[in-house]
Amino acid sequence: MMSNKDSARNYRSSRETAAAQALGRVDERTRAVVGPIHLSSTFIRDPDNQYRSGFSYGRADNETVRELEAVLAMLEDAESAMAFGSGMSAAVAVFAALPPGSRVLAPTVMYWALRNWLADDARNLGLQVDFVDMADLAKVSAAVAARPTQLIWIETPSNPLWNVVDIAGVAEIAHSACAKLIVDSTCASPVLTRPLALGADIVMHSASKYLNGHSDVIAGVLATRSKDELWAKISRVRSSHGMLLGPFEAFLVIRGIRTLHLRVRASCATALDLARRFSRHAAVAEVLYPGLPSHANHALAARQMVGGFGGMLSIRVHGGEAAAIATAAQVHLWKRATSLGGVESLIEHRASIEGVGTPCPPDLLRLSCGIETVEDLFSDLEQALRHSQMHSHAS
Ligand SMILES: *Cc1c(COP(=O)(O)O)cnc(C)c1O
Repeated sequence: MMSNKDSARNYRSSRETAAAQALGRVDERTRAVVGPIHLSSTFIRDPDNQYRSGFSYGRADNETVRELEAVLAMLEDAESAMAFGSGMSAAVAVFAALPPGSRVLAPTVMYWALRNWLADDARNLGLQVDFVDMADLAKVSAAVAARPTQLIWIETPSNPLWNVVDIAGVAEIAHSACAKLIVDSTCASPVLTRPLALGADIVMHSASKYLNGHSDVIAGVLATRSKDELWAKISRVRSSHGMLLGPFEAFLVIRGIRTLHLRVRASCATALDLARRFSRHAAVAEVLYPGLPSHANHALAARQMVGGFGGMLSIRVHGGEAAAIATAAQVHLWKRATSLGGVESLIEHRASIEGVGTPCPPDLLRLSCGIETVEDLFSDLEQALRHSQMHSHAS
């Protein structure tokens, strides 16, 4: 039997080649290496009243979006993929496709905007949402045993503490109860984790992050293990709610995916290097990164993630919230901005954007490592940390 690591290696060579060439499709008429962007919103009917091209109106479908979906299905080993106008719309489409009365389990620590939507708005769709610590499989089992459950949503590594969730373990629990498992794999990207191969039913990405990779597109994607009833329902939700990604954005995401593997590997190397160096820094109370042996989920991360532990890490600084905000104020190279997965490195005082009630510690700075020279990134943040410590001790 092939181990996860062996099959991941095979996956890597063929998928990286196919991604670099965006599946190698060549336009037959022009012989163009890069495909056109299909902008038409409407399509001509045949004289006998049929639509034989497969296209009729641009809210439901688009050829450039289909090309992105084909690349994505290849990357995730999926039967089918769908692209949406944002990561949030991709996620909401899944929940909107569930029958009213469905029960959903979601993680206690997850992407904040989606957590808020699940806590405040999902009930408008007749859904019952319970939040569970997904890192603890016994708690997930107990939650599933307590009441019939239709869907389990997990995120790994999860924002902004970078806990790693056991996809295969949760998949087994979900399937034993006939529930679907959906994995938000945004922060792992298709390069580092293969949720469908580990038993997930659908994998979701905010393509605004690593897939596009250049902080200039908002997009989301879903990829499915099988085109089942839920998938058909999601497709109808996307079309009727007008959630389809625009063709220009689809083109940009395809372009981004051509360099996905290079960018993700560079980000991982930088994140690991910075995690090691800052964990020895006097101004830093704690570094949260699954690649460090000190991280609670390190062994699981080493088993589940292939070729790296991600480009995201968080540091907790001595001196609390004021020192964290002062540190972010002193960087020059790092950009003080939300979001992640771009070629430029970002720093964010995460509690400020998550607001009241966040489980994010107030002394935490979230770092998205880009592809700049690691030495430049280290010295910039290092001087900012020293500066903020001098001030917090002086005051
Ligand atoms: C950004 C993000 C989302 C939301 O995606 P948008 O494209 O911003 O709508 C969902 N999950 C995770 C983990 C994210 O980082």
